[in-house]
Amino acid sequence: MTDSTDTRTYWNATAEAPDFPSLAGDLSVDVAIIGGGIVGVTAARLIKDAGLTVALVEARRVGRQVTGKSTAKMTSQHGILYQTLVRKFGEDKARLYAEAQEAGIRRIEALARTHGIEADIEPRAAYVYTNDDSYVSQIEKEVEVAQRLGLPATLTRETGLPFDVLAAMRWDGQAQFHPTKYVAGLAATVPGEGSHVFENSRVLDYEPTKVVTDRGTVTARHVVMATHLPLGQVGMYYAMNYPMAEPVIAAPIGRIPPGMYKNAEQPGHSIRTHQSNGKTYAIVAGNHFKPGHPDDEKTYMADIERWLAEHFEAGPVEYRWVNEDYSAMDSAPFVGWSSSGGDGYLVATGFAAWGISNGTAAAMIIADLGQGRDNPWLAMFDAARIKPVAGAPEFIKENAEVAA
Ligand SMILES: Cc1cc2nc3c(=O)[nH]c(=O)nc-3n(C[C@H](O)[C@H](O)[C@H](O)COP(=O)(O)OP(=O)(O)OC[C@H]3O[C@@H](n4cnc5c(N)ncnc54)[C@H](O)[C@@H]3O)c2cc1C
Repeated sequence: MTDSTDTRTYWNATAEAPDFPSLAGDLSVDVAIIGGGIVGVTAARLIKDAGLTVALVEARRVGRQVTGKSTAKMTSQHGILYQTLVRKFGEDKARLYAEAQEAGIRRIEALARTHGIEADIEPRAAYVYTNDDSYVSQIEKEVEVAQRLGLPATLTRETGLPFDVLAAMRWDGQAQFHPTKYVAGLAATVPGEGSHVFENSRVLDYEPTKVVTDRGTVTARHVVMATHLPLGQVGMYYAMNYPMAEPVIAAPIGRIPPGMYKNAEQPGHSIRTHQSNGKTYAIVAGNHFKPGHPDDEKTYMADIERWLAEHFEAGPVEYRWVNEDYSAMDSAPFVGWSSSGGDGYLVATGFAAWGISNGTAAAMIIADLGQGRDNPWLAMFDAARIKPVAGAPEFIKENAEVAA
């Protein structure tokens, strides 16, 4: 990915983002943060709120990489996930995951309100629906599990979509927003009182207390790697996550559905809307595919264009892009210290295309750890947790196919 692709994403094209200077020279702060996506910028704000100084060092522009290429649903409804989490981690930890997501959503709302950030946050119900018989029982079970975990889930067939569905689960109290406006707006609140945000400053070398670019250094008590995937060999997260890509399009839409939607089966279809320049746009993501497979990209891009035009009186497509995220081998993100000794780097990765709520919750954990405080959600997300053997065969197969 290069900077020239940024303008192809609807969010980056419709955000007036402030510019930040490049790092030049040497400085010292309490916490250095590498990476200015939703994780890095939120962590910077929360660490500054705790009375510490931060320096965030971003290789390109804040908020414009994976975060600025997402569909930006703020939801704890992550496809059909909670029954898997209960099976792999037990109900108590799955409840921590659920709590962290809901808290992440509420924190985005609170930060935008506190700092007057125009992030186009709009309350919306979130739906996962199916028209495939074989997913109906999974949806029914997910609602049952989600309710037990305290999530706002109900079973329904009324979705507001312009077609009937066999079954759907509805989550209330969810929202959607403009990711680039939010992250860039939040970043603009960080500089001052000894804290800094730098753009166009790629970190080339790092130690647990120092980051180095070609024009400067930041020395700190702790270094946060908010780089989507931690850099280099740190924690070997490249070997515990697998990448997935998805095509995304944005087009003016005539039949506007009232919620945010995703189907359970394949090919995947995810839709939400956003208003810009007096028009309502649909932002639609398609089936995931392994990066480096251009035929899949073409097929799934064409599939969402067809699906959108067929059901929603939409078009022409004005923006097309591809986004990628990493999924952890055992289905839960890795957040916290990269090594169990409490040293090393603070990291957050493996959001499985749900890093808006997860990334904000991760920043809350990182901010606590950076101040030397515990965080109860670590029991679920611990970045240095022992990898369950159960995840290994599936993971090895995934990575072998990505590499093929
Ligand atoms: C198609 C798609 C749709 C999605 N939709 C949703 C959604 O609706 N809701 C949801 O919750 N999640 C969604 N996600 C997931 C979500 O977008 C991501 O999980 C999240 O944005 C990741 O944030 P991040 O801060 O970790 O990464 P990023 O936003 O990529 O930020 C990392 C930053 O680190 C910088 N960086 C990297 N290396 C260096 C270096 N050496 N020096 C300095 N800086 C560096 C990068 O330039 C980048 O800006 C979606 C994902 C995909 C693929």
